[in-house]
Amino acid sequence: MVIPYARQSISEQDLNAVAEVLQSDYLTQGPVVPAFEDAVAQLVGAKYAVAGNSATSMLHLACLALGVTTGDLVWTSPNSFVASANCALYCGAEIDFVDIESETFNMSATALAAKLELAKKSNRLPKVIIPVHMGGQSCDMQSIGSLARQYDIKVVEDASHAIGGTYNSQRIGNCAHSDITIFSFHPVKIITSGEGGMATTQDEGLAHDMRMLRSHGITRDESEFEFTNDGPWYYEQQELGFNYRLTDIAAALGLSQLQRIDSFIQQRNSIAARYNEAFASTLVAAPHIASNSVSAFHLYIARCDFENLKVTRVQLFQKMKDMGVLLNLHYIPIYRQPYFAKMGFDRKTFPNAERYYAQAFSIPMYADLTETDQNTVISSLLNALSTQ
Ligand SMILES: *Cc1c(COP(=O)(O)O)cnc(C)c1O
Repeated sequence: MVIPYARQSISEQDLNAVAEVLQSDYLTQGPVVPAFEDAVAQLVGAKYAVAGNSATSMLHLACLALGVTTGDLVWTSPNSFVASANCALYCGAEIDFVDIESETFNMSATALAAKLELAKKSNRLPKVIIPVHMGGQSCDMQSIGSLARQYDIKVVEDASHAIGGTYNSQRIGNCAHSDITIFSFHPVKIITSGEGGMATTQDEGLAHDMRMLRSHGITRDESEFEFTNDGPWYYEQQELGFNYRLTDIAAALGLSQLQRIDSFIQQRNSIAARYNEAFASTLVAAPHIASNSVSAFHLYIARCDFENLKVTRVQLFQKMKDMGVLLNLHYIPIYRQPYFAKMGFDRKTFPNAERYYAQAFSIPMYADLTETDQNTVISSLLNALSTQ
């Protein structure tokens, strides 16, 4: 039996919620998607929530709603999944990266300030920045938000890891320092709908635009029609949109999972506390969580100074696998991917992302990880690091 790095937790209630939709009138475009949207909006304290079939889709729509287009520039964190950067490329924009903080692995507000000052001088400021809440811990949104206001830049929080987490005692997703926040409901994340994503915002116009774009750019609202209403069948396509809709089947799973969000976060945090304690005064560096944050702990990211160890990281991954524990690495810096490398990024401009990539690895973390399995992870890891 193998311990994976992440996995979903499915309850009897989840099964029933999905079965109920399957026996109802609507498998999609029914009442459950809006119910899921309302529940997420209420949880995080946002006026509006717009569901879609993935976080990637919603990142794309967020960029479009903020007007990102050909010739624009978008900045994100190099330490993220490629979707955080691809959303800008889908809109025809160019992408660039801001180096991370070595302690939180999040976009550095200091590096951002320095890069903005240079960009202003060369008249090449980004239209949108996309900070990523790495592992479930919020970025320093107060600093990032105030820089964005100073330079008149829009902010999309990629909170794919972070639903349920808090920043300054408020839920991530209330957009206190941003325009839009995006959540992912992929099965490895905190709650799942199979595939799925959601955007939250306090801005009615942005919510409206994302809603329209997720369904072909079509409106059925008569008050919005540009041409004459031909009759009861009439609708208008006013923009080039997509089919990025979430199904009611998926929304039912997401909504049911959401009822357990606080226990998921609590379980993840107690596993993290257990790991922290076990790794104190060992070769394993635990992740640092700022005092004004509660991480959703999508990931537990450990680091080792492999240059000064007898075990390489490749060997560590193999040894752990032999002991039935799967490790992972989040993330390969995006600019290192062949598709992005062609754009000509210089690795030396991201020293913290490079050091992080040399040291980091993710160990198993999910709500249902049993105490026995936690013990196996801890003892296997310490054992693997102490042997040659
Ligand atoms: C998972 C993830 C995404 C993409 O989410 P999907 O729902 O799979 O599209 C985007 N950004 C980050 C940081 C992620 O971890």
